[in-house]
Amino acid sequence: MPWNRPLIIGLLVVLLALTWWRLQPEDEEIRRSQLMMGTVVEIMAGGQGFDKLDAAVDAAFAEMARLDKLLSSHNPDSDVSRLSQSDHGGDVAAATAEVIALGLEVAQRSDGAFDLTLGRLKSLWGFDQETPTVPNRDALATALAGIGPEALSLEGQQVNKRAPQLQVDLGGIAKGYAVDRAIAVLKQYGVTSAAVNAGGDMYLLGQRSRRAKHPERFWRIGLQHPRQKDAVLETVQVRDRAVVTSGDYERFFEQDGIRYHHIFDPQSGLPARGCQSVTIIADSVALGDALATAVFVLGPQAGLLLLTQYPQAEGLIVATDGSLHTSPGWAAYQVTP
Ligand code: ADP
Ligand code: MG
Repeated sequence: MPWNRPLIIGLLVVLLALTWWRLQPEDEEIRRSQLMMGTVVEIMAGGQGFDKLDAAVDAAFAEMARLDKLLSSHNPDSDVSRLSQSDHGGDVAAATAEVIALGLEVAQRSDGAFDLTLGRLKSLWGFDQETPTVPNRDALATALAGIGPEALSLEGQQVNKRAPQLQVDLGGIAKGYAVDRAIAVLKQYGVTSAAVNAGGDMYLLGQRSRRAKHPERFWRIGLQHPRQKDAVLETVQVRDRAVVTSGDYERFFEQDGIRYHHIFDPQSGLPARGCQSVTIIADSVALGDALATAVFVLGPQAGLLLLTQYPQAEGLIVATDGSLHTSPGWAAYQVTP
């Protein structure tokens, strides 16, 4: 038989490679969820070693709980509640200062469409209560008095309020920031593949773990259709990116046939009317969260203009008439059907 050396060596190499591949343990994947920050937070982490993954996910949830305590207006001891109660502001934790700094930047660049001082307006509408109601004109005007991008300022960890009655609300950015921190903790534990989703604010780290069932490298995310329940509007594929959606279909009530949702136009105090939903893909969830809210308020045209200031963010906007609008870089994330 014409056995020759190169052929035998070649076969051996292939055999060795196959054996090595078989000996590699399959990646584990764990998925856990907790009720937190007013929503279900789901963490999925993949890699090798169940115990390590479990500890990492525990630590990530703990970090999110710590931030919820600082940033939630429902907790009377939070930084946010202390700021709201104070006359002129006060010192806050480093994390709170970081959230406020980013929020103020988006507030300024969006000409106040994003606003961190809508606390009184939010309580007035009562979305967190059992029976939210449409406020009257005078009540709206009072709740909006003195708000705006200049109403808060930050020097280091010192927050200054322009007027005593201003109430701080970080609801449009805090969840996103908490997801960023959860991802940072997972990375500290050596996790290289993870997905954290806090009710539509998500980050997809690395590539989907190496399992036979999920061979694709990218994470594929189906974006909820704003008007057809359980229908996918579009599928995107990402890795190491935040995907954040703000919609008018998540938290709303109807009165006299009109839908009232919880993303407010700071100029009128009424729910913003330019969009059905906005999805932002960005390098951080905090930025994506703030931009999704800001673009929602601005509507498609001014919203896309705002996104030109952020090369690290792309957006898909569903306008009130159902038409789709995307920023120039969006197509790179689209999965072609
Ligand atoms: P979700 O909480 O459903 O993810 P958003 O990220 O859009 O939705 O945040 C909505 C929350 O943001 C509201 O509940 C309120 O706390 C806050 N908010 C509403 N309107 C604005 C606004 N114009 N600017 C900043 N924050 C806002
Ligand atoms: Mg938001």
